[in-house]
Amino acid sequence: MAACPTPDKQRHRTFEAALKARDSLEQSRGIDLALRPYRCKCGAWHIGHRDKRGLRYMRRRTNR
Ligand SMILES: [Zn+2]
Repeated sequence: MAACPTPDKQRHRTFEAALKARDSLEQSRGIDLALRPYRCKCGAWHIGHRDKRGLRYMRRRTNR
């Protein structure tokens, strides 16, 4: 596993887990955070903004 470039971020084991965390975060704040789960090179899923360069967001959902 590669070192995580964003170790401060919460890590999730699956896309679904990250999605749930984001949803509950949005609900608790009552706003749309426009965040999106993405696969980090550390092997975990993080939640982040989608406009960052250099991050590859998973668009395929065939992994199930
Ligand atoms: Zn990471």
